[in-house]
Amino acid sequence: MDGGKSPAHELAIVPEGMIADLLTRKASFDAVEKVFAAMASGDAVNFPVVREALGHEDALYGFKGGFDAVGGVLGLKAGGYWPHNLERRGLINHQSSVFLFDPDSGRVKAMVGGNLLTALRTAAASSVSIKHLARKDAKVLGMVGAGHQAKFQLRAALETHAFEKVIGWNYHPDMLPGLGAVAEEMGVPFQAVDLPGLREADVIITITSSFAPSLMAAHVSPGTHLACMGTDTKGKQEVEAALLALATVFCDEVAQSVTIGEAQHAVAAGLIGAEAVTPIGAVINGAHPGRTSDDEITLFDGTGVGLQDLAVADAIVTEAVARGMATLVPL
Ligand code: NAD
Repeated sequence: MDGGKSPAHELAIVPEGMIADLLTRKASFDAVEKVFAAMASGDAVNFPVVREALGHEDALYGFKGGFDAVGGVLGLKAGGYWPHNLERRGLINHQSSVFLFDPDSGRVKAMVGGNLLTALRTAAASSVSIKHLARKDAKVLGMVGAGHQAKFQLRAALETHAFEKVIGWNYHPDMLPGLGAVAEEMGVPFQAVDLPGLREADVIITITSSFAPSLMAAHVSPGTHLACMGTDTKGKQEVEAALLALATVFCDEVAQSVTIGEAQHAVAAGLIGAEAVTPIGAVINGAHPGRTSDDEITLFDGTGVGLQDLAVADAIVTEAVARGMATLVPL
């Protein structure tokens, strides 16, 4: 149809600067929990990830896309890493935008700033794992990592579970006071520890950009839940591969977990097979029991999938349109 006969259609634009106002941690948590469940039941699929070196500005650029047939969400996140942004332009180095499409007609529906959204959806993933896999009586939260993303992880975890204390270790110890300030701002005491000190933790979140393991099996007590969130690329590694053989391993998506996630090393070393890794959506759906004893170590390998971005972007657009904050462009 054309010549003015096509049904009215608008593109909703929600810029980066509005995301903080529009997206609560709770909305992000709910969207991620729901889409993990849809992925495990086969109702939502992630498409193969494209990631390319541009040969310009030393940038890495790519797409993460997917389709959630139940949620009616189709789209992609485009963006990547421009290492010179901060020094040359005063911009953050990670840049991304989400585009949503009408799954019935293929017409573009929305364009949403993707930077804060990425941090919040990643924090939501570890929190979803804490809700479904940590012991209910967990009291001490351990943090490995104290960079940009660690603060988001910490805030979300403290909102999800009533931890009494946060302990933290970081490769660059000078960064720990910044993380401690977040814990204290949320009314929970913080203590810097050495790696063996993490044995006190009931839940440990790892969120570093490391290519060699910091957290060893000897640093983890029985009954701990680990959320390993930093490893999202081939070669990165945060925890000793032997830990995955000791733990019951869960992930966002098995294909990513065993190739670019923390499980890549244990699988390559023959310590576990891909069939030992369960999508957390199966626990959310009730198809897998999750933790079955107080002594069990559970490990969530969060690699970051496109459907997380799309689910959260869709929630943002709904909220922005409802509050009259989206710019609507007739197409
Ligand atoms: P950042 O640069 O702000 O912080 C990096 C952290 O890693 C710091 O704590 C730093 O001290 C630590 N670190 C650096 N070198 C280390 C080493 N050799 N050994 C141990 N620790 C080391 O980065 P960020 O934005 O906080 O991101 C952290 C990681 O999370 C990155 O690897 C990023 O790609 C990943 N990430 C994953 C997802 C996901 O969905 N899983 C989403 C966003 C970011």
